[in-house]
Amino acid sequence: MSAEVIPHPQQHRRCVRCAQWRLEREGSMIEPAPGIVGGMAAKLRGRAGQAPVRFICLDCQYTLRGRRILGWMALAVILILMLVSKECGLW
Ligand SMILES: [Zn+2]
Repeated sequence: MSAEVIPHPQQHRRCVRCAQWRLEREGSMIEPAPGIVGGMAAKLRGRAGQAPVRFICLDCQYTLRGRRILGWMALAVILILMLVSKECGLW
């Protein structure tokens, strides 16, 4: 449940993705996404003096996880279709 009242800085945190104020137990502090772009962004934030971790609420975490799973499934389907078409002699 999001904060419907004026957010208290010691009890609420703002989600970096949906920009809603949430209680601390409704999310977690996570590190930036790994990879080349995520690593470069973390270095830039470190030089700017900002913390490398950020708060993301549970709803946004579920959404991101679902999109990541869908992306891997789409990649797997494409690879399977390529292998099947190659076995059938389509290319
Ligand atoms: Zn969120």
